[in-house]
Amino acid sequence: MPDVTVVGGGPAGTLSARLLASSGRDVTLIEDHHVSGTPVHCAGVVSGEVIENMGVKPEVEGIISAAEVVLPDSTSIFTRRRSPYAYVIDRSDFDVKLADAAEAAGVTMKYGIRYKNHQVTESGVTINTNSGSITSDLLVGADGQSSLVAASLGNNAARSYIRGAQADVEYRMDDQECMRLWLGRDVAPGFFAWMLPLGDKTRIGLGVGLEYGPPIEYLNRLLDKTGLAERRRLATYVGKIPIGGRRVSYADRTLLIGDAAGQVKPVSGGGLYPISKAAPLLNETINRAYSMNMFTSSTLALYERSWKREIGKSINGGMRLRKYFDMLTDEELCQIGHLYAREDISELLSEIDVDDPSNVVRPILRCKGVKSTLLKIYLRHLL
Ligand SMILES: Cc1cc2nc3c(=O)[nH]c(=O)nc-3n(C[C@H](O)[C@H](O)[C@H](O)COP(=O)(O)OP(=O)(O)OC[C@H]3O[C@@H](n4cnc5c(N)ncnc54)[C@H](O)[C@@H]3O)c2cc1C
Repeated sequence: MPDVTVVGGGPAGTLSARLLASSGRDVTLIEDHHVSGTPVHCAGVVSGEVIENMGVKPEVEGIISAAEVVLPDSTSIFTRRRSPYAYVIDRSDFDVKLADAAEAAGVTMKYGIRYKNHQVTESGVTINTNSGSITSDLLVGADGQSSLVAASLGNNAARSYIRGAQADVEYRMDDQECMRLWLGRDVAPGFFAWMLPLGDKTRIGLGVGLEYGPPIEYLNRLLDKTGLAERRRLATYVGKIPIGGRRVSYADRTLLIGDAAGQVKPVSGGGLYPISKAAPLLNETINRAYSMNMFTSSTLALYERSWKREIGKSINGGMRLRKYFDMLTDEELCQIGHLYAREDISELLSEIDVDDPSNVVRPILRCKGVKSTLLKIYLRHLL
């Protein structure tokens, strides 16, 4: 009987499983697909810190050290710096390498096995799958945005969802270091759109709030607008991003991680950084539970306290920022955007940390005229 059964062979599952196996646990991972990393639902944008934390070297398809943000009135704000903001990785290759590393650490990987439900008893947790049952001490739900393990904890949907769609097209962007981002209700209501330079191909995509209909329609419009609709399409991806967290990430003998736990940055939709922070904390909590031989929710609650201490503030702050931006009209978005074109603010903006954009929020708020403009707009919506 394994100590821990992990459900899901994405980055949250494979990283957690690897850390647990390296701590001496007997770990079995089940994944419903026949390989990790396919299909892809990700733009692949990560910081250097994420790559370092995850401990495998993915194929890097692009290095981003500049950004052009296009406002609804077509004004562009540019920011550039010497060191990279982010890397665009081959997400499929990344997931495969993480799965290989888990297996090399001793994890038993079982592909083509689908979690159905589980029962917790005093002596263990029994996981029922499409191919028999597995009993272990603990269950880790890393089964992504539509997590059945998360749902089994009751009233545990993510606070909100963004729906995304993107395409890789045969086209070479002129500036191979600069990503282009669009804001505005016409292009990507409730989120933003992106265009990433990846050599002879370009990744173009967007997210939209659930209430705005299918993202693929917005993507087709963006492809038309950019003149890329006629280019050869190499791949199309769609997916859902859970944002704002879930009610709970632990229960008796059960822990959640990654999209299954709603651990996603609400402003960018990035899920890989939170996973890289949460997995070591999950490992620590499980090691502690073994040292006490106690697997109840009160012992496992430590995990949620620790990951919230690490990334909870930026998730909550990001949600507040999202709420503010969601209420803006395109005109107001431009009014704020034009402030960012000012030299003093764009200089601060160039120091943005993609993992924690709040690092520039306070300094920008201190710049002349920023707080009063934001407040004026906010009050207009209240009255
Ligand atoms: C359009 C889009 C763009 C994105 N871009 C970025 C980005 O640029 N940077 C970034 O950091 N994040 C990005 N994200 C978010 C990121 O992809 C996710 O946060 C990340 O994949 C979460 O990893 P995970 O392991 O929790 O879940 P997943 O990667 O979804 O893995 C879950 C795994 O569980 C398996 N599974 C599900 N149900 C079961 C079951 N019942 N039984 C067995 N196995 C099961 C699935 O097959 C899957 O392999 C993007 C998301 C979308 C949709």
